[in-house]
Amino acid sequence: MNAYVSSVIEYVKKKYANEPEFCQTVEEVLTSIAPVVDAHPEYQKVDLLTRMVEPERMFTFRVVWCDDAGQWHTNTGYRCQFNGAIGPYKGGLRFQANVTPSIIKFLGFEQTFKNSLTGLPMGGGKGGADFDPAGKSDAEIMRFCQSFMTALYRYIGPDVDVPAGDMGVGAREIGYLFGQYRRLKGAWENGVLTGKGFTFGGSLTRPEATGYGSIYYLQEVLKHEGEDIKGKTIACAGFGNVTWGICKKARDLGAKVVTLSGPDGYIYDPDGVSESQEKIDYLVEMRNNGHDRVKDYADKFGVEFHAGEKPWGVKVDVVMPSAMQNDVHMEDAKKIVANGVKYYIEVANMPTTNDALQYLMGQKGMIVAPSKAVNAGGVAVSGLEMSQNSERLVWSAEEVDEKLQGIMKNIHAMSVAAAEEYGLGYNLVAGANIAGFKKVATAMMEQGCF
Ligand code: GLU
Repeated sequence: MNAYVSSVIEYVKKKYANEPEFCQTVEEVLTSIAPVVDAHPEYQKVDLLTRMVEPERMFTFRVVWCDDAGQWHTNTGYRCQFNGAIGPYKGGLRFQANVTPSIIKFLGFEQTFKNSLTGLPMGGGKGGADFDPAGKSDAEIMRFCQSFMTALYRYIGPDVDVPAGDMGVGAREIGYLFGQYRRLKGAWENGVLTGKGFTFGGSLTRPEATGYGSIYYLQEVLKHEGEDIKGKTIACAGFGNVTWGICKKARDLGAKVVTLSGPDGYIYDPDGVSESQEKIDYLVEMRNNGHDRVKDYADKFGVEFHAGEKPWGVKVDVVMPSAMQNDVHMEDAKKIVANGVKYYIEVANMPTTNDALQYLMGQKGMIVAPSKAVNAGGVAVSGLEMSQNSERLVWSAEEVDEKLQGIMKNIHAMSVAAAEEYGLGYNLVAGANIAGFKKVATAMMEQGCF
């Protein structure tokens, strides 16, 4: 591999040895884009890669809040404004007990290339807090969000940095965050956050966008292979907003999601989670009841529950890991291969360990699609929400959905073209990294060294 690329990977691994997720994504992305660096010696001259792996700005802040019993708590809030070369920083907020600087940085780095792929003018950012929303009352969530925004509001804005949701942050949290921002600013700047409620500038189809977008992307892959989505069985993970969107769109197109997972294990529903509206609606109920367990689904609908296991050993046509980072390890990848799965479509951010990803990509006949392309529909519709907010208008659900489909098709086509340009064949992982990278790199070069 290109010596400059290897040296930057080694530099990051050494410097950030205590940030494993960040090192993992840097290695994955930089390995893919090595051929582009070979073709552009001017990048090394300005040391573009070292600049790219360093966030423009990253900060922590104190978030103090009071629980319903009158006890006070202190958490750490984060915002990583990773790269603003192609637009205002854009990316979600994650509220989860295990949030660390490494997780926020890896997500911000990924987001930079993902946002670039959407074709919309959005830079990369990410944030969150090591706050565990599980079991908190509505009033506690509201107080936490208000305190979080009080610390963050002066560093964001519709043309500066536009946060959104991620794990633990949904429409409810975005509502409280926006309410506090509006109160503090004394202005109606609803372009400052996306994923808002529909009564104050939220885009129709935003809640479904990540799930729908991943199915649209899958359709492009299947089309490329001369296959139809109708009748396909899909293994999903998680049971949150993204998986819910996948189930809905899979049902509309005649495919079937047969697994869901949670921290407690996985369920197998051979008739399909997407079989009925009742089942799909139940995912929303499970997410809102705060139990954070998938067994409830098995109890309600009388299907198999496998405690403490992941769904990757189930025989299906398509595997879509849609829960969290590093969910699929080498032993899972081996099961997927043994089952003869042809389509491995990542949905969650970095759901596969690097060794498992390399192993899957090395299997003859297996098609691997990377999350930064597959899940980009979510942030793409966030970009459309920003456009609607700045123009003070509202597009219909059909209009947004049509644009989303166009964007997903384009991401697939751009990835195919980028991989072909470097003689890599139908390599969607390398293609997405290269296509995402090229635009950011060009913008950085053209804006000069800073
Ligand atoms: N958190 C989502 C993502 O990973 C959405 C970000 C956004 O809409 O800004 O892309």
